[in-house]
Amino acid sequence: MWGDKGKIKLMVDGTCVRHGRWLRLLGFDTEIFIDPEDLKNNLNERVLITRNKKLKEALKGGIILLPEIPFWKSMNFILKKLNLEKFIKPFTRCSKCNREVVEIEKERIKGKVPHHVYEIQDSFHICPDCGQIYWGGSHYQNFLKDIKSKIGLNI
Ligand SMILES: [Zn+2]
Repeated sequence: MWGDKGKIKLMVDGTCVRHGRWLRLLGFDTEIFIDPEDLKNNLNERVLITRNKKLKEALKGGIILLPEIPFWKSMNFILKKLNLEKFIKPFTRCSKCNREVVEIEKERIKGKVPHHVYEIQDSFHICPDCGQIYWGGSHYQNFLKDIKSKIGLNI
């Protein structure tokens, strides 16, 4: 329905900021817009996720209206509705900035992550905008398992 799911562009309004951060963590390009003008201007490019019924009625375009259900259930709702389960790529995007993270050599982040993390992890990524560091390995696998079970997706 919205083309290549791996490249799908999303946006959330003020009613779904937490969803926005999690969608970024799962690797989806998601803008968080508080100003209704920003939402309007991006409707051609991005699918809007909101809990605001009036907004859904006022705007035309691809809009997902979230039902009033608990957070993780509503994450499930979004992923199923847009068929995004197979395209989850955790830690490929910064949850604060929505920028794609880039790989960084281990030596360069020494002292910037907890010691035990530095000792056991070999693969690190950094956000070019804010400098937030993300790491993979066992942490990644556990995170993915944990999140999928919270969201209620098949593992
Ligand atoms: Zn960032």
